[in-house]
Amino acid sequence: MQARTTGITPQANDTRALEAAAATRMLVAERILDYSGHISVRIPGKDAFVIQIGSNSRAEVGPEQMLVVDFDGKVLEGERQPPSEIPIHIEILKARPDVQAILHSHMELAIAFTMMEGVTLQPMRARASRWKSGIPIDGDPSHIKTPEQGKALAKTLGPHHAVLMRAHGLTLVAESVQALFVDAVHFKENATAQMQALQAGAKPLPLTDAEIEQIEKMEMRDWHIKKLWNYYIRKGVTEGVLPDEWSKPLIPTAEMLTRDRTYDA
Ligand SMILES: [Zn+2]
Repeated sequence: MQARTTGITPQANDTRALEAAAATRMLVAERILDYSGHISVRIPGKDAFVIQIGSNSRAEVGPEQMLVVDFDGKVLEGERQPPSEIPIHIEILKARPDVQAILHSHMELAIAFTMMEGVTLQPMRARASRWKSGIPIDGDPSHIKTPEQGKALAKTLGPHHAVLMRAHGLTLVAESVQALFVDAVHFKENATAQMQALQAGAKPLPLTDAEIEQIEKMEMRDWHIKKLWNYYIRKGVTEGVLPDEWSKPLIPTAEMLTRDRTYDA
């Protein structure tokens, strides 16, 4: 891993950079990212975050290709340019102190839900209780390149965990890169479920408030995230999506994967 030199908690940044690179490659493998889209990770206590070089392939990105960028868009560490849609990350990180990691993707399936009259993407699958507060749609179909556009998107996102972007894509926010990755997998599963119901000619039956309440009683989000992260990292290494040497720093230990209970309530 490349040594970092500007003194912003180098070791922590490298963990963030490695996790962001792994999540990016795995999201390409899961067809949630492709030639575009990006993940950012906040550096706690600093108005700065980690994000990949904009022009580098999402399928081959590594921690050494991650930049540290401040809230003015200035590159503090690394060389070359961040993605052009960086105002998405800057303005959401500024507006949402609770958010640690952000994904912006142009996933076709999500975009479809911004282009159907009378259809709203809703929580269908159990894991989609994550989006019970709603999934708003931002009306700006262009690429988000100015602070004004980024602020408008952050406003549309509001307190929610996901925002669709009309004819363009989606943005997800979460408490960590691992959580963000797992949310992205479940977001796609949920959109697929609703689309399959629509394609069957049926009226989708989203989760009711009572069902969501029951699901959340049985939920163990932190443990679930570790379980899926373990699965996808191992799958990624086995299938050559991730280099072998990333196994040790990324695979959770057996201790981390041991439950002390089976639900949180
Ligand atoms: Zn975009």
